[in-house]
Amino acid sequence: MIKSDVLIIGAGAVGCALARELSKYNIKVTVVDKNDDVGGDASKSNSGLFSTSATMPVGTLECKLRTIAHSMILNICNDLDVPYIECGSIAPILYPDQLETAKGLTERAFQNGVYDYEILPAKDILDMEPTLNPEILGGIYSPRDRQANQFIFVSAMAENAAENGVEFVLDCKVTGMDVADGKIHAVHTTKGDFEATWVINAAGLHCDEISDMVDECDFKINPRKGEFYVFSHDTPVKVSHIISSVPSPKTRGVLVIPTVDNNMLVGPTADDVEDKTDVKTTAAGLASIKSQALNMIPGLHFEDTITQFVGVRPARTPEGYDIRFSEKVPGFIGISGVRSTGLTVSVGLATYIVHGMKEHGLELVRKEGWKRTRKGIARFAEKTDAEKDALIAADPLYGKIICRCEQVTESEILQAIHRPVGAKTLDAVKRRVRAGMGRCQSGFCGPHVIEILARELGIPEEDVRKRGEKAFMLDKN
Ligand SMILES: Cc1cc2nc3c(=O)[nH]c(=O)nc-3n(C[C@H](O)[C@H](O)[C@H](O)COP(=O)(O)OP(=O)(O)OC[C@H]3O[C@@H](n4cnc5c(N)ncnc54)[C@H](O)[C@@H]3O)c2cc1C
Repeated sequence: MIKSDVLIIGAGAVGCALARELSKYNIKVTVVDKNDDVGGDASKSNSGLFSTSATMPVGTLECKLRTIAHSMILNICNDLDVPYIECGSIAPILYPDQLETAKGLTERAFQNGVYDYEILPAKDILDMEPTLNPEILGGIYSPRDRQANQFIFVSAMAENAAENGVEFVLDCKVTGMDVADGKIHAVHTTKGDFEATWVINAAGLHCDEISDMVDECDFKINPRKGEFYVFSHDTPVKVSHIISSVPSPKTRGVLVIPTVDNNMLVGPTADDVEDKTDVKTTAAGLASIKSQALNMIPGLHFEDTITQFVGVRPARTPEGYDIRFSEKVPGFIGISGVRSTGLTVSVGLATYIVHGMKEHGLELVRKEGWKRTRKGIARFAEKTDAEKDALIAADPLYGKIICRCEQVTESEILQAIHRPVGAKTLDAVKRRVRAGMGRCQSGFCGPHVIEILARELGIPEEDVRKRGEKAFMLDKN
């Protein structure tokens, strides 16, 4: 039985932000996740935007937390060495009726305290983003929308939390709880039982199943699927701002996103599905993205797509964020409805919840020597020749390229494996250092990464997995 003061279920953006926030104090914190890596389900498969609360429904908890989080997020990225771009966003106005919607949105943005969200004339918008459809009637410009590497953001919070004493137990699915007399006596998992004074449900899409274990589930999770295209670096028509459709109440619509890694993302769709694990792309979804994106940017080269992926939002009925300090089972905190904005909101949500825990009696004594910062893995591909020479002089494995498409070296892969909460699978390496993210999608580097993982983890090559329990890279027979 592992005993902690706080047990967090889920190592996505929300769980990892909470872990980092709680790591500031002299308490024992454990995070469990059913996956073999931190980074979550929804948290690793999204647009990676840190947007303002401009278009959020006024006065909601989600809007309030997003405003708070947006003001905190750059400091946190800088402290944790998380790459981001301050690109701003443009929503081109293509039809006369969108002008009215746009005016309503700027009014709402003002009410939400976002004063720099404004409608600009077509000429000014086209000067800023010449690839846009020349027929536009104008556009909404939002200068403080940013894009970040979503996986690095979450894993950096996890690494920093681990450096500050938080324990992460992965491949560890919560299967049930012993609850009696208003108390959780044990949390059952596939890796044994856990005990904690506080149990926080940060299980995203599966938060209903966890809440059900303490008989606190009076809501329904509605998985909302989002499909994306990923473009190659060398596609000739690129954007320098996030280009979004004029938003509707359900979704921001299709976006064309310049990423910090220089791979454009185009998507997502927003389709309600029954199956939480439905991560298959569909011909209809991809076709709809394509036509909406081409309507905004007619010159996009969809033939430069290198892959597609799906993320599933944990939307909820009734709609909206719900954060609940259980009265029936004191010490249980339920978080649900963290749907399309949770990457950004996670850091605000974490401080909000920790404040609530104090109000509910948790004594928090600040830890001496808490490490605020973390240094990321130096990326060879982004360095000047002189910097590359210096990296190789300090570590000759920076001179050995493993992934040709993304110019990833053996040194970077070793760091990804040996850092706190390090990579144990091909996908985990790929997300940390981009080996396998390029045009050949690991056709060249895959076998080398298998060799390195096997050597460094001390396991046979046949036991190296792509991800998950059973996705072995080589035939085990
Ligand atoms: C298509 C799409 C686009 C989006 N775009 C943006 C954006 O641009 N900006 C933004 O801010 N947000 C965006 N979001 C929303 C954001 O991704 C989510 O709100 C956020 O990731 C939710 O984080 P989470 O930690 O709650 O959930 P998750 O990331 O899903 O993490 C939950 C974790 O709980 C674990 N878990 C579940 N059940 C169990 C169990 N029984 N035992 C142990 N562990 C368990 C899971 O394995 C998972 O790791 C987007 C989402 C999608 C899908």
